[in-house]
Amino acid sequence: MNTTDFSLLPLSAEMLSNLNEIGYTQMTPVQAQTLPLILDGKDVIAQAKTGSGKTAAFGIGLLHKLQVKKFRVQSLILCPTRELADQVAKELRVLARFAHNIKILTLCGGAAFGPQLGSLRHGAHIIVGTPGRILKHLDKKTLSLEDLDTLVFDEADRMLDMGFIEEIDKVLEYTPKERQTLLFSATYTDEITAISNRVQKDAISVKTVSTEVANKITERFYEAQDGNKLETLVNILSSYTPENVIVFTNTKLEAKEIAEQLQKRKIDALAIHGDLEQYERNDVLVQFANKSCPVLIATDVAARGLDIKELAMVVNYDIPHGEETYTHRIGRTGRAGKEGLAMTLYNTYEIQNALEYKNESRLFEDSSTLKKVNGFEMRPFFVTLVIEGGKKDKVRAGDLLGALTGDAGLSGSSIGKIDIYERQSYVAIERSLIDEAHQKLSKGKIKGKKFSVWILQ
Ligand code: ADP
Ligand code: MG
Repeated sequence: MNTTDFSLLPLSAEMLSNLNEIGYTQMTPVQAQTLPLILDGKDVIAQAKTGSGKTAAFGIGLLHKLQVKKFRVQSLILCPTRELADQVAKELRVLARFAHNIKILTLCGGAAFGPQLGSLRHGAHIIVGTPGRILKHLDKKTLSLEDLDTLVFDEADRMLDMGFIEEIDKVLEYTPKERQTLLFSATYTDEITAISNRVQKDAISVKTVSTEVANKITERFYEAQDGNKLETLVNILSSYTPENVIVFTNTKLEAKEIAEQLQKRKIDALAIHGDLEQYERNDVLVQFANKSCPVLIATDVAARGLDIKELAMVVNYDIPHGEETYTHRIGRTGRAGKEGLAMTLYNTYEIQNALEYKNESRLFEDSSTLKKVNGFEMRPFFVTLVIEGGKKDKVRAGDLLGALTGDAGLSGSSIGKIDIYERQSYVAIERSLIDEAHQKLSKGKIKGKKFSVWILQ
């Protein structure tokens, strides 16, 4: 018998035989690490990458303790989008085949409310849904969580990205204090720890091995070809095609200039520097963080406090003033177990300065090895829509998501990060759908009110 056989767990014979039937014989690492704790009733916070089998980890746990004869909602799984909720429900239905009559219901925004009422009236054991719609049912008393035993946050990082924090807090008020709370996330950030502290008790943290590796950063130095740093930068971008990149400059004038030059070459770049008004700075940071702009040009001061979770590349357009600044800058890439790239440019006359940085892990490369791609462009996946309504107007992520997926007919997967500020909200929308979303949202209403909406470019 293998040490990761499901049969090692204290599961019922029916459950084990069903797992066998659906072809689950061995536990995946995240299942092997969390299931013993989950079955023991512990609160668990687990980090594991996509496709690692997180659904079955919590699914087997909550199904194991489900009292089928008690026809009350005993488990609630919160998901960021309707598509993900549907996937989870589908997997749970397969896992639930060991018993008859386990009712699993999805409640998501973007779907009609009426039929959900009908289904709820018939009762359910397990609810899977998005925070906004769940809250709506709770507020209307069409859903009760009085008998809830297990609360699951699936893809918690995405839920936070999508701005669901307030809805989550309100949903929590409807749940019993005595409950098991499980939190799953692909990335592990301070925000995730903060939410865990709020919603869980003595949570045991599990990280699967594959994501445990420390920051891995490849550091390369390039002498600018023919004294042309911009050209060398473009060649670096076209050679490595990073998803996102921060280019550091030593002066704000240079930051502005590089952004302009790159824009002329159809490489979407924005600059942040000390001359920007607070709102302009915010517009830029939001667009970079929500993947509406792949290249950010920044001075050290302006980049302070910037929290970008997964940065593919950092470029030092100029040699930084000292090792400390260098380390600080490049430390922003290679997070969450992904490999990062740190590139430093220097001019021929700066070679002495550059060589001071030389050590065995830093590679000095010949920039003629970089690929030159004619007409190379960098366009973002998303474009940002601004809605002139925010917290002050009681606009919540769920309302925006509802308006976009419901009336405007977009799918949850075409919507990215949602940021809600006091008087404004930002939503990242798939580029090809931006005009449609803009039109529909301008014509329609959010929370029964009209708001002006524009595209940030
Ligand atoms: P995650 O939520 O971590 O991204 P999923 O829970 O969606 O991953 O699982 C990914 C795939 O692996 C699904 O198709 C699921 O059916 C399958 N799977 C999960 N656990 C096992 C297992 N123990 N053995 C075989 N396949 C599994
Ligand atoms: Mg999942």
